[in-house]
Amino acid sequence: MALPLRVVLLSPPLAGVVGYLWTVPGSLAQALLYLVVVAWAMAVAAVGVLRNRPARSRIWWALLAGMGLWFLGDSAWTYLVFVGGREPFPSLADAVFLPGYVALALGMYWLVRGRRPGRDRAALLDASVVATGVGVLAGVFVLLPLAVDDELALLGKLVASAYPLGDLLVLAMLVRLASTPGASTPAFRLLAGSFTASLVADAAYNVVVYVNGGSTTPPWVDASWLLGYVLFAAAAADPSMRTLSEPAPEREEVLTRRRLLALALACALAPVTALVQAGLGQAPEVVITSVGSLVLSALVLTRMAGLLERVRAQAVQLAALAAVDGLTGVANRRTLDLEISRACARARAAGQPLAVALLDLDRFKAYNDRHGHRAGDRLLKEAAAAWQEVLGPDDLLARYGGEEFAVLLPGRDGEAARRVLDRARALTPDGQSFSAGVVVWDGAEEPGDALGRADEALYAAKRGGRDQVRVWGAQPGARTVATAVVVQPLVDLRTGAVVAHEALARFPGEPDVAAVFARAQEQGTGPVLEASALAAALALPGRPAGTLLHVNVSVHALAEPVVLQALPAELAGVVVELTEAGRLGDHAALGPVLADLRRRGALVALDDVGSGAADLRRLVDLRPDVVKVDRALVAGVHADAARRALLGALVTCAHELGMVVCAEGVEEDADLRALAALGVDQAQGWLLGRPGPRWAGRAAAGAPAAVAGAPA
Ligand code: GH3
Ligand code: MG
Ligand code: MG
Repeated sequence: MALPLRVVLLSPPLAGVVGYLWTVPGSLAQALLYLVVVAWAMAVAAVGVLRNRPARSRIWWALLAGMGLWFLGDSAWTYLVFVGGREPFPSLADAVFLPGYVALALGMYWLVRGRRPGRDRAALLDASVVATGVGVLAGVFVLLPLAVDDELALLGKLVASAYPLGDLLVLAMLVRLASTPGASTPAFRLLAGSFTASLVADAAYNVVVYVNGGSTTPPWVDASWLLGYVLFAAAAADPSMRTLSEPAPEREEVLTRRRLLALALACALAPVTALVQAGLGQAPEVVITSVGSLVLSALVLTRMAGLLERVRAQAVQLAALAAVDGLTGVANRRTLDLEISRACARARAAGQPLAVALLDLDRFKAYNDRHGHRAGDRLLKEAAAAWQEVLGPDDLLARYGGEEFAVLLPGRDGEAARRVLDRARALTPDGQSFSAGVVVWDGAEEPGDALGRADEALYAAKRGGRDQVRVWGAQPGARTVATAVVVQPLVDLRTGAVVAHEALARFPGEPDVAAVFARAQEQGTGPVLEASALAAALALPGRPAGTLLHVNVSVHALAEPVVLQALPAELAGVVVELTEAGRLGDHAALGPVLADLRRRGALVALDDVGSGAADLRRLVDLRPDVVKVDRALVAGVHADAARRALLGALVTCAHELGMVVCAEGVEEDADLRALAALGVDQAQGWLLGRPGPRWAGRAAAGAPAAVAGAPA
């Protein structure tokens, strides 16, 4: 298994950190090793930031600048010591080191703000508690001794004090960062580890220099600083650094036990400091106040912990209460809204149906009037309990309002849902009954729309005499229907060549295709069905070169997003046939859609011309590229002067407008000749080729000889 590049790149500096512990302390070699390790780490970090391209990259550049300034400070210090031969304080090194803290703190501040936009008072308070506790330590053991140090000039005192203050700032930011939710990515852990290593080294340095009065630090302190640089580089190079600078997911503020314990420890720092000081100076009253304040802090925090427990328990109770209906104890509407979305997502993921039912007690008002409102309440309660018995663990019964309930039945189609509800209906107490409407979620609609359709089905059940279950959408029409597509050739009447094919949907076990579409339309799943038929047609492989493909879209479905999504961007060679006999849509609204289809290369055909009253209006309004003349006008045309006259006028008009005329449903040879004589451009029908699974060849098909011989 190949190691990631970043691991390979960071191995040498990591080895350098370990090697550092074995080099001769105070030697030039050791100092140079230190600088090489840091420079290497900084280079890896810079490459990491460049390659990972985090959002708001200024965060990482600020952090890198901080670390880089520290590196420059280290370099300046090494130069002063080994080339200048002295250890001046304060020096140029400090002038570079200290701004490094500012850059680091700024980067961390941006990081915190970026992850958690807006105020987070609790996190700010937590960070302040920890910083104050540590600040007391720093004040007593570092800042105070510095202030009274006679050997240091004012500038020296200020510069020396700035280091622990900078550390405090970084510590506060680190605590604040740790309390943003969802932070536990590898990059975060590495970054936190980096700052922790630096802070530990700084603290150790302070202890050595100010508490113990020493001057040289043990090698592990330097190694810890080095580790800080390397871990920072690892954080910047890790791909998860990108998510670290993105907003954290919204989460409720929680005071966990661990956080409370951390706060308690921070609170204890001040009295413990005083205690240590008093122990050294033997001041009994300070011992008493320190122990007292320790005990007080512990008591107050224990009290808080108890309060916390209660709040948490109450929150659980409240959440449970908010989810159920007070009277019946089943889920309430809020829960239903939440659960139905989840159920839809699960159904989609599992590729399983989801039945959605609404049920309503029959003549419940009369029941109330007869037995009283209290008895009505009791019936609601007992009915809900009885219905629950026939439901599975994955089903959900919810009170939708008044005496109306909703049921979610995952994994069940309409008929299975009907069986469940029929059993429930029989269990309704006190001789009462309910009516129910059931739909199967179509896989695309909003959950609310499924409920709306269930409500319509429920209404139908009520109108149909009550005490029954109506199932809608369990018929073919839902997305689960397998849509097959066959093709039928369109023949050029002058050359006899097949110039196009029309794709026609077929539904297994459903001979009446139009009825399936009509039913789907009625049930609100029409667009979904059309989209799936369209997608199947456009996906047909092996269309002969040079031929067009006609697909059918109903006028009312053309504006539906699901249908538009089924159409690819590139539509050259596709003829969109606008169907929908009789019903006239808003043609003006169609304009932009058709213009867009044409821009993408599609041609537009108007289907079934001659079967409705307003065809001529449509012809003028829509200006199709192809006019498909309905079978009603075509059949028997050779023997009918009136049909011939009308068709002739239509051809003249269409040609005048630059349209191609195609006759549908041609079954007789005589009709085909008559059509050719009338100037009809193309024809389609059983005579020329039945709808089937195979493409017709580009060459002549059916009865072209008759056509070719026809007068022009
Ligand atoms: P239908 O068969 O058409 O549904 O007739 P219905 O009488 O059940 O329907 P309608 O909507 O006319 O009346 C519903 C009644 O349900 C009216 C209201 O008093 C009663 N109801 C609604 N919520 C409660 C409730 O929480 N407790 C009681 N006891 N009655 C309720
Ligand atoms: Mg009712
Ligand atoms: Mg058609």
